[in-house]
Amino acid sequence: MKSLEEKILQDGKVFPGGVLKVGSFLNHQIDVPFMIEIGKEFYRLFKDEQITKVLTIETSGIAIAVVCAEQFHVPVVFAKKHQTKNLTNDCYVAHIHSYTHGNDYEARVEKQFLNEHDRVLVIDDFLANGAALEGLMEIIRQSGAHLAGCGIAIEKVFQEGGKRIREKGVRVESLAMISEMTDDGKITFVEQDA
Ligand code: 5GP
Repeated sequence: MKSLEEKILQDGKVFPGGVLKVGSFLNHQIDVPFMIEIGKEFYRLFKDEQITKVLTIETSGIAIAVVCAEQFHVPVVFAKKHQTKNLTNDCYVAHIHSYTHGNDYEARVEKQFLNEHDRVLVIDDFLANGAALEGLMEIIRQSGAHLAGCGIAIEKVFQEGGKRIREKGVRVESLAMISEMTDDGKITFVEQDA
């Protein structure tokens, strides 16, 4: 998606350790009309998949998942990272190691929101080492739902998550694919079809 690549080049900031900050339009402040364009692009890619639920993980996946689900006219379910009082114990649970934050956590989805009749599109803002996506895939496996595919806004191809998940036969569509990021801020994209 050319407009996303341009936005990343214009507003993205590269941080040490291969971290890209896109706080001005995606991760902190949200550019809503642009987000809606992202939602439409995911709809174009997955419209034939009879999606019944969009699944993401809090926090930064939620905005993209919402605009995407609006296109499909289906609900969004987001995995919670904390066991809060308003969450029942009847949950699917996946253990996730975050390389970005250097910690481990559990992602939870209440069983009432996902079941074997669902066809699920997983949405997230970034794909790096793939741990977050694999956690969501584990939740889908526990629910018996069908994983229709994964829609990612920004994939960092120089980290191996996307490759590993595609090798499992999962359809992963990333709207911007970064092949290289240098510490002095240069960002290079994988050539994609228009
Ligand atoms: P993974 O589990 O694939 O290593 O990382 C995915 C999660 O980490 C995403 O949900 C995203 O929130 C966060 N993340 C990974 N890399 C980046 C990055 O370069 N920039 C930002 N803003 N978040 C990232």
